[in-house]
Amino acid sequence: MELNLNEDYHIHSNFNDHSPENLSISNIVTQAEKIGLKKFAITEHVRKTSDWVPQYLDQIESLKRENIIVGFEAKILPDGSINCPQEYMGNYFIIASFHGLLKDKQLWLKALETAIQNPDVNVIGHLGPEPTFDLNEDELNNLAKLIVSNEKIVEINAKYHWPLLSWLKVFKKNGVKFHLSSDAHSLTEIGNFEKIKDLIDFVKNE
Ligand SMILES: [Zn+2]
Ligand SMILES: [Zn+2]
Repeated sequence: MELNLNEDYHIHSNFNDHSPENLSISNIVTQAEKIGLKKFAITEHVRKTSDWVPQYLDQIESLKRENIIVGFEAKILPDGSINCPQEYMGNYFIIASFHGLLKDKQLWLKALETAIQNPDVNVIGHLGPEPTFDLNEDELNNLAKLIVSNEKIVEINAKYHWPLLSWLKVFKKNGVKFHLSSDAHSLTEIGNFEKIKDLIDFVKNE
């Protein structure tokens, strides 16, 4: 299966409150082009209450680059809904991820299944188990089938080193599509997939 090392589908910016000041939109673009990325997604953390979004979109869209995908990373809430203002859903590239623990496997699965079936979600971000549970083979197969039938992409995330190899095996067998995500929170992390070389090799080779 092809994985393009010149594409990074998950990059944060300084519009959030926990990334360095120099992670500006223009510095991201300079860095991405310097290291030879052909396509990349800027996907800042959004919440329903985020008020900086128009400025963020302006800054990216005014660059008029066809190699930049404009999007957001948004949290999957316990009821499976996505913590993103509705006006941006469907019009931008949306990564849906769990942030924080639900501590209940059935609740977690139900929320994830709802997010996967949401037509406005493009990617499931850093998908992996919580410390108190893992999924068995049947659960992984069912999850993979749902991901495939809803045409979602599972990112291979460098920050989390997820999905686990055991999950990746089942996903790959079921025909799940993958792409690479640095989940960069600093300039040097952009397009850097060194830490997930083992997962990349697995997807490409076996
Ligand atoms: Zn995340
Ligand atoms: Zn992220």
